[in-house]
Amino acid sequence: MNDNKFVEVKNLKKVYDNGHQAIKNVSFHVKKGDLVCLLGPSGCGKTTILNILAGLLNPTSGDILFDGKSVVNTASKDRQIGYVFQNYALYPHMTVLQNVMFPLTVGKQKMPKDKAKEIAEKYMELTQISDFANQKPGQLSGGQQQRVAIARALVQEPKILLMDEPLSNLDARLRLKIREEIRSLVKEVGITTLFVTHDQEEALSIGDKIILFNEGVIQQDDLGQNFYLEPNNYFVANFVGNPVIDNFKVKMQDGKLIGSDFELNVNDLQQARFKRQLTDGDYILSVRPENILPSDDGNVSAHIDDVELIGRERILKFTHDGVQARSLVDLETPIKAGDDIKLEMRLDRVFIFTPEGERVY
Ligand code: ATP
Repeated sequence: MNDNKFVEVKNLKKVYDNGHQAIKNVSFHVKKGDLVCLLGPSGCGKTTILNILAGLLNPTSGDILFDGKSVVNTASKDRQIGYVFQNYALYPHMTVLQNVMFPLTVGKQKMPKDKAKEIAEKYMELTQISDFANQKPGQLSGGQQQRVAIARALVQEPKILLMDEPLSNLDARLRLKIREEIRSLVKEVGITTLFVTHDQEEALSIGDKIILFNEGVIQQDDLGQNFYLEPNNYFVANFVGNPVIDNFKVKMQDGKLIGSDFELNVNDLQQARFKRQLTDGDYILSVRPENILPSDDGNVSAHIDDVELIGRERILKFTHDGVQARSLVDLETPIKAGDDIKLEMRLDRVFIFTPEGERVY
């Protein structure tokens, strides 16, 4: 078996009955034991893919292999997957213990009660819910209910764990805590996990790798840092990063990129970073807010509209060529709203895109 392709999705397509193409020829693979995040905006097809992997939905075409074997014709219950839903889907009339034991006490592999209880207790301990064994889900907090759902997904010792926005019903602080717990738990159990989220920070913080989708198409399948440092296209550059990247309209002419109040000589850019030679025409020059900073020698003029404090840093917000942009500076930087300043971009950290979003630098 090839552990690098423990889960393999090949040329997957899904057209819903109403003709909507939710998944357009998607291929990816997941390494055994990895926690991979499927990331993307609402409606990009994340849940559709998870439901197809789970066998809850049939693909229109394409193949799915678990551990080298095609499962497209395998019933959901025989796929050896655990599924954690956004809304937990616990049985309200059962206790925590009964909920966690439930999958072991039904179906073909039905096991004796005491054996089921023993396994359930092991996973309740791992997910730190043993103290609530005899309570009903309604008596638990959101975070505790989520742990019950995870324990219940793990008791059958599935090969693959699928989680659909498991943290979205929790408040911000709890979300941070539970996401760390989920990562350490799945690593401890060693289970290959696909985790759906629309939250880029969540994906960056827990994913061994991230697959970013938009409109049913993979935009980038990569390690987290590469979404930041080497985005494949304009969509990726703008989806990942907080504060969001700055985008300036420029025109290429006579070897120069000309913005509304600045010019860059193309020869000053790193030639090795060009994906192809630039022809004359319109482009978008993008730079992350930490790479465009106040400097007396800077060539971008900025009138500061507002200054926002975010923890140890400040965001200087300015309007440039009619579009809002940002510079991320230290807390101590003594710049305030209303100031007129100059900014300098780090040329080794800019990206250039075509108006269609193709990255050319
Ligand atoms: P969200 O984060 O909002 O849950 P998602 O990325 O999980 O979004 P999906 O639920 O996979 O997105 O939906 C992908 C697209 O397919 C959306 O445009 C959605 O409206 C459409 N869609 C989903 N289910 C159906 C269905 N049963 N029939 C028709 N279209 C559907």
